[in-house]
Amino acid sequence: MERSTIVRVHEGLHARPATRFVKLAKGFESDVELVKDGKAVSAKSSVKLMLLAVKENQEVTVRANGADAIEAIEALIGYLENPKAGLDDEEPKPAADAVSDTPVASVGESALPAPGGPNGLRGVAASEGFAIGPAFAHFPPDIAGQGRMLQESEIAGEIDRFRAAIGAVQARMDKILAQDTLSGGDRGIVAALRDIAADDSLTGEAEGLIEGGNDAISAVITAASTIAADFSAVDDHYLNARADDVHAVGRQICLVLLGQDDVSLENIPEGAILIADDIGAWDLARAPLKRIGGVICGHGGATSHIAIIARSHGIPAVLGLGDSVNALRTAREVALDGTSGHVIIDPDAATRADFATRVEAAAKERAGLSVFKTVTPKLANGKVIEVAANIGSLEEIEAAQEAGAMGVGLFRTELLFMRHMHLPSEDMQAETYAALAEAFAPYPVIVRTLDIGGDKPIAGIEFPDEENPFLGWRGIRMCLDRPDIFKRQLRALLRAAVHGNIKVMLPMVADIEEVRQTRVLVDECAAELKAEGVPYATFDLGVMIETPAAVLIAPALAKEVAFFSIGTNDLTQYIMAADRLNPTVAKLNDVTNPAVMMAIELTAKAGVAAGIMVGMCGEAAGRPDLIARFLEMGLTELSMSPASIQRAKKTIMDLAAGA
Ligand code: PEP
Ligand code: MG
Repeated sequence: MERSTIVRVHEGLHARPATRFVKLAKGFESDVELVKDGKAVSAKSSVKLMLLAVKENQEVTVRANGADAIEAIEALIGYLENPKAGLDDEEPKPAADAVSDTPVASVGESALPAPGGPNGLRGVAASEGFAIGPAFAHFPPDIAGQGRMLQESEIAGEIDRFRAAIGAVQARMDKILAQDTLSGGDRGIVAALRDIAADDSLTGEAEGLIEGGNDAISAVITAASTIAADFSAVDDHYLNARADDVHAVGRQICLVLLGQDDVSLENIPEGAILIADDIGAWDLARAPLKRIGGVICGHGGATSHIAIIARSHGIPAVLGLGDSVNALRTAREVALDGTSGHVIIDPDAATRADFATRVEAAAKERAGLSVFKTVTPKLANGKVIEVAANIGSLEEIEAAQEAGAMGVGLFRTELLFMRHMHLPSEDMQAETYAALAEAFAPYPVIVRTLDIGGDKPIAGIEFPDEENPFLGWRGIRMCLDRPDIFKRQLRALLRAAVHGNIKVMLPMVADIEEVRQTRVLVDECAAELKAEGVPYATFDLGVMIETPAAVLIAPALAKEVAFFSIGTNDLTQYIMAADRLNPTVAKLNDVTNPAVMMAIELTAKAGVAAGIMVGMCGEAAGRPDLIARFLEMGLTELSMSPASIQRAKKTIMDLAAGA
């Protein structure tokens, strides 16, 4: 018996709706299959359903065979036809962040000379600060099967052993899920892994292999690799990341079968430098972060999960070392500079002393600066300068508040989109922005609308192949072409504005029409919310000044917006025509170049003349050597990574005092 329908589930059967669908299907005795494009899979396996990659508005058939087939079809079709299904359930982060190495928050220059020497390596500067400490290499060994065929008489026992191991892994995950201390994100990761451990495709595949005479460990390894390969082969960035989840679950099952504990981070010594090829979300959720002195990884970039966690806990980190991380496997001691991305293996006495001085100086500086946490910096004329934080996730709120941030000058919304296997819903976005607004009220929270392009693809948006994505379909350009995505974000922002002081700014603006078109959409969204009876409040709309075009039309732009925020990271690369990620042209990519300083000055002049706020959220905003010039130009807001806030406040106070 079968029935076809068009899927209305919001954004299709991505992971959580797939799990829900499976739960529903499992409530029926009948065998149930879902068929898409002639391919049929069991509706009782969320892994298989995810791999079918069923999208919204696609036609599918539900096929059932058994005593309650009619009821099963009715219930499952009802689920598929419900556009609200999946809307209330957000996706957990992928276990291993597969996002690009592109620094979202490029860190500033190291205050001290960069370390070098024969034992030096260089990676992505992902979380600033110096660290030196004993190396703690975390390279969990590969697990191998027994490699012998089972006797017929051993098979039933091996299947029992396998089922007991699955049960033990699920129980272990349930125990972790029961902990109050688990954050929402970590809970999502563990819950996703538990779903996979319980999934028929993994257990079915492995049991089939055991029945064929394979030992349980070999069977689990093969089954996990097969399923992981299926996930890797799908043309979907986020389904690809599930491959790591499957491997993580397979590993846990094998360890139970071996009667071994995983190489755990629980015993990491105080102040040790954690070295790994990759640190999975599974490890991270259980790691004693307070004891970790620094992190070095082969994988990962500045936007990866580990980078965000490191930054929010103030742990210096160098990531993306690639295979060269292997050189650190046998290191006894490691020094790292999370600001420049340098790593030194077994430093000699001079380097060790140098780093010890740096770490001590940094600690001393931090201690000395902590009094500035609650300071409101003012110029000699009494004008308050807002020193705000650049953040990209709710996890970073605490670090920003601890630093004494006077609000958020740049909330990068990209991570919100990149972390999920589907576009974030309006509700989820509204909740996130409202949580931010509430956390910092009465200070403003400036949310930047989605600034993404083909270099950092996200699920749910098809980017064309472009010769030069940095000059292509990105930021406000993409948003205006996709009002479905843009309006959802604007509606969420209007709703969140009820909860605090939300301001909104547009990235990559190059043409005044982009602002005008956005305003039309904001008005449209407000009218819709009003008609729907949904509470909302208006917000100030500003623009980032980060293209040469925006600088040149700044006087006209200033008449149309409430504020400017100068994005020196991009402005420098576009003014100097020097890629911000290309080390070969790093010398040109210099904010202090007279051409860039002139662009900043022109912008400030235009903003000041029009009486609007001019701020800066590029990394230059936190540079003590440049702050005086920016203030002279008339900037009244500087937004930076939380680690730079207290130093910037001190710099401003020193200037005001004429020091
Ligand atoms: C900038 O370009 O200066 C900026 C703050 O934005 P991002 O670094 O996210 O491009
Ligand atoms: Mg930018």
